[in-house]
Amino acid sequence: PFRALMIVDQDGKPKAEFRELTIADLPDYDVLVEIAYSTLNYKDGLAVSGKGRIARRLPMVAGIDMAGTVVESRSPDWKPGDKVVANGWGMSETEWGAYSLYQRVKPEWLIRLPEAFDIKATMAIGTAGYTAALCVDALEDWGRIAAKDLPVLVTGAAGGVGSTAISLLSAKGYEVTASTGRPDTHDYLKSLGASGFIDRSSLTEKGKPLDKERFAGAVDTVGSTTLANVLAQTAYGGAVAACGLAGGMDLPATVAPHILRGVALIGIDSVMAPLAKRERAWKTLADHLDKAHLDRIARVEPLSDLPKLAEEIVAGRIRGRVVIDVKA
Ligand code: NAP
Repeated sequence: PFRALMIVDQDGKPKAEFRELTIADLPDYDVLVEIAYSTLNYKDGLAVSGKGRIARRLPMVAGIDMAGTVVESRSPDWKPGDKVVANGWGMSETEWGAYSLYQRVKPEWLIRLPEAFDIKATMAIGTAGYTAALCVDALEDWGRIAAKDLPVLVTGAAGGVGSTAISLLSAKGYEVTASTGRPDTHDYLKSLGASGFIDRSSLTEKGKPLDKERFAGAVDTVGSTTLANVLAQTAYGGAVAACGLAGGMDLPATVAPHILRGVALIGIDSVMAPLAKRERAWKTLADHLDKAHLDRIARVEPLSDLPKLAEEIVAGRIRGRVVIDVKA
């Protein structure tokens, strides 16, 4: 038997609980993975704290990120000993996830460990970091930020997506402005490459439909009024890659930035992103993410502490990324 963090039904409400499982309890998918590390993302925080209904069937093994070693495989694509990474694909929602020593998964969910990283580093990046790369790739495809005449804004800057986005953008030579509610993280964000700061409260109050053009583009992890204000401050022809809802699911915006400035709102999804986008994002990370930055962004915590850590990330108190040691 081994330990897994499961979301179970308690009087109609989801509740996180450590349970003992055996290999025979796992779903009948083709590849058995021994998981070394998982991570803590905002979505994991919602699932484990019960503050969001992430699991759509119970009991559910939580955890949306895994990295480890193939133990058994009925797929010709994978053999025992292969080092693999998986994120998304409904794990922790409809499919059992990564907060467990072992999990069985579908072969097509797995990607080979990128050469540039060891197992722990892939989880220091995790869903949050790979989503940051999806955002950066999307902004570069749109093209406006290439002019480098105005900074690129990153909201929720001190969080996991935000920290990684800042590091990637600055490595690519963009001037980066960080929006954070935590002034005590300024030195940390500067060390990742941010050169300008705005207090997040300046974006949380309802603003004008069109405001001064301050940014060539933005990575937004916050949503709601913040995203509306970011759109209103995006320069002519710019784009905002929206991936998050840390400030709310709503979007109290007008069409003005879109129809008067040609501003694009690019939606970013990591969960069902096709393989080609995933591989490109991992290449962006391999080519541009500074290893020293990654060490500064991430820390390792034991699986035993996840219930507490889940509360902290939902409260906005986690800085950077948390790697989860599933054995500890
Ligand atoms: P995180 O580490 O908790 O970062 C979120 C950051 O947002 C916090 O550090 C905080 O930054 C800011 N924040 C928190 N509460 C806020 C509030 N009420 N109002 C304004 N700002 C607030 O989470 P993460 O793992 O990086 O994820 C960030 C967001 O992206 C989440 O909403 C997550 O669900 C989403 N996400 C989406 C995808 C996708 O596939 N679309 C993938 C990954 C993540 P400061 O302290 O610096 O202000």
